[in-house]
Amino acid sequence: MGGLSGSPYKRCPDCGEVKPVTEFRRNAANPDGLSFYCRACYSRRDRAGYRARQAKKGKTVRERVPVPDGHKRCPGCGETKPFSEWYRNRRSRDGYNTYCKKCHGARDARDYLRRAHKLTLDDIQQLVAQQRGLCPICLSAPAVQVDHDHATGAVRAVLCFTCNVGLGLFKDRPDVLRRAANYLEGDVWRPVRIAPGVYRVPS
Ligand SMILES: [Zn+2]
Ligand SMILES: [Zn+2]
Ligand SMILES: [Zn+2]
Ligand SMILES: [Zn+2]
Repeated sequence: MGGLSGSPYKRCPDCGEVKPVTEFRRNAANPDGLSFYCRACYSRRDRAGYRARQAKKGKTVRERVPVPDGHKRCPGCGETKPFSEWYRNRRSRDGYNTYCKKCHGARDARDYLRRAHKLTLDDIQQLVAQQRGLCPICLSAPAVQVDHDHATGAVRAVLCFTCNVGLGLFKDRPDVLRRAANYLEGDVWRPVRIAPGVYRVPS
């Protein structure tokens, strides 16, 4: 079973990957009937959340590898690092944050962007109305998937399933998409043979 449009693929806004709809959980509350993130991203979040909750209760989640003295394992990156790689946190049991400095910074930035760019259902409906209900890329299919800039977390537009998946397949790269468009218009990109076995590629 596919989503609303019957598309067998969906793009996960967390990892940015295009995956078969079977890689998503069911969620009737969403327009496409599928969970927001893919299964892998949800279980990664669940694992991180479980460790964080246990750590808050003062319980240590069993470590897979023994942690040497003066070291700590970060549930974010999974690395075991010396305490110097952690910010101090007087409220925690061991006196350090749960996540290492690197992961702590990355999480802060991501959470901040998530909050800053969080749209309400109302915002999304307004955006769709501004787009006259249509995907702004193909201008023919209904706008049903909120598309994010994965680097900044900013909402770009509401796209149709196919175009959203398409952007992911083209790696979100304008240069690749432009070459694809030129290619379709007949501007075929071909290396020029200048000597036997020596080719010059057009710039
Ligand atoms: Zn994912
Ligand atoms: Zn880390
Ligand atoms: Zn489209
Ligand atoms: Zn290619």
